[in-house]
Amino acid sequence: MAEPGKRSIVIVGGGIIGSTTAYFLTRHPKYNPALHSIHLIEATAIASGASGKAGGLIALWAYPSCLVPLSFRLHAELAREHNGAERWGYRGVSVGQVDLIGRHVSNQPKVSADAGAKGEGEDIRGLHRADVSSDGNVSLQKRSKESYANLRKVGLPDELDWVAEETVQGYESMSSPGDSAQVHPYQFTTSMAELAAEKGVKIIIGSVDKIESSSSGEHTIKYTDKNTNSQQSLPATDVIVTAGPWTKTVLPGTPISALRAHSVTIRPTRPVSAFCLFTELALPKNFKEGTKSRAMQVSPEVYARPNNELYACGEGDHLVPLPKSTAEVQVDDSRCQDIVDYCAAFSDEMRDGEVLVRQACYLPQVDAGAGPLVGLTRTKGVYLAAGHTCWGIQNGPGTGQLMSEFVFDGKALSANVNSLDPRKVLR
Ligand SMILES: Cc1cc2nc3c(=O)[nH]c(=O)nc-3n(C[C@H](O)[C@H](O)[C@H](O)COP(=O)(O)OP(=O)(O)OC[C@H]3O[C@@H](n4cnc5c(N)ncnc54)[C@H](O)[C@@H]3O)c2cc1C
Repeated sequence: MAEPGKRSIVIVGGGIIGSTTAYFLTRHPKYNPALHSIHLIEATAIASGASGKAGGLIALWAYPSCLVPLSFRLHAELAREHNGAERWGYRGVSVGQVDLIGRHVSNQPKVSADAGAKGEGEDIRGLHRADVSSDGNVSLQKRSKESYANLRKVGLPDELDWVAEETVQGYESMSSPGDSAQVHPYQFTTSMAELAAEKGVKIIIGSVDKIESSSSGEHTIKYTDKNTNSQQSLPATDVIVTAGPWTKTVLPGTPISALRAHSVTIRPTRPVSAFCLFTELALPKNFKEGTKSRAMQVSPEVYARPNNELYACGEGDHLVPLPKSTAEVQVDDSRCQDIVDYCAAFSDEMRDGEVLVRQACYLPQVDAGAGPLVGLTRTKGVYLAAGHTCWGIQNGPGTGQLMSEFVFDGKALSANVNSLDPRKVLR
């Protein structure tokens, strides 16, 4: 029998949801490290799945509306408290939908026509103070007055000068800093786990094989320790499953599936302004030199990051089922190259930049459509926080705070998340 009042809490999965849950458990007023223990068991490495490979956009217009405002506010508070601007690239961003007609792209990197004609130094010398935005991004004012005037007619902001003007058909603002921001997901998630560990959370690298629950409400977590490759078990009063797309393997019957998605990061040829773009990109027939392809419409998302890096992701696929672990995710190089080429079709800065990372991960989706699932399960002391679809970075802190309340207060206090109750879909 557990000592009265003593809680042995185990979190399964060290993505953003597990890491923010660990963080907020240690910040809960009822957490007493002398009495309570918290273990976070992660199969591969903290943030080795989607939480380390996502874009990192956070926005007040994300979904679900019962969770978004809380989580958006917590992102701002966390950034203030822990210097998130430095530590995980937190900053406000403008978000826009841009319609583009892509250019043909060569397989060989080209020198930008602009750079050749003028030279970067010449552009920079001409800068006024107003050309340097508050986040330090520099607009090179590379367009002529006529170009700016023409592009303003289709709604393109002047500072968005890393999109080739001849490709732009239309631009619609979706939000501005204040309503939208961004973090570097890997840096954010690993920071949350580190900050939790500083307050007593023990991180175990191991894969949970089974959760055994007794009728009296006690649980035993059976796991394989990665360092020793040995079977281990851990008693728990409370188990929080945050295994993202792998949740079904830990809690059988949970209606969460997985969608693979590829992404790349590119170091542009010069610093670019803070925009996250949802594109509608029409590509001409045979748009890649030397290859045959039909004319097509694609919609990569492209996010500028503060560390002189652009992140771009493409559509998902079901071609390769979810592997056993994040370490076994297959990266299809041709899908990454497609994203690189889409970016080259509308931006000189990306076309002539350096591809830094080519990667893939799995998005957790709730089968019934909505999501995530956040709260109690039908087994006493077992909680679920998973299925965050494409807004898990945005909704991580809110979910973490709510999970700490479910554990220590028995219910959610900071937001009404009844609509996300896992018991509605769990048998
Ligand atoms: C391409 C792409 C772009 C995205 N962009 C954004 C964005 O801009 N903004 C946004 O808000 N969201 C975005 N998302 C969504 C976001 O990445 C996910 O919703 C979020 O990362 C899910 O976090 P998670 O912790 O639930 O899952 P994961 O990050 O998958 O973490 C689950 C963890 O559980 C571990 N695990 C699995 N099984 C076990 C086991 N048996 N034992 C122990 N550990 C286990 C895994 O190793 C993994 O580390 C994006 C997603 C994708 C795919």
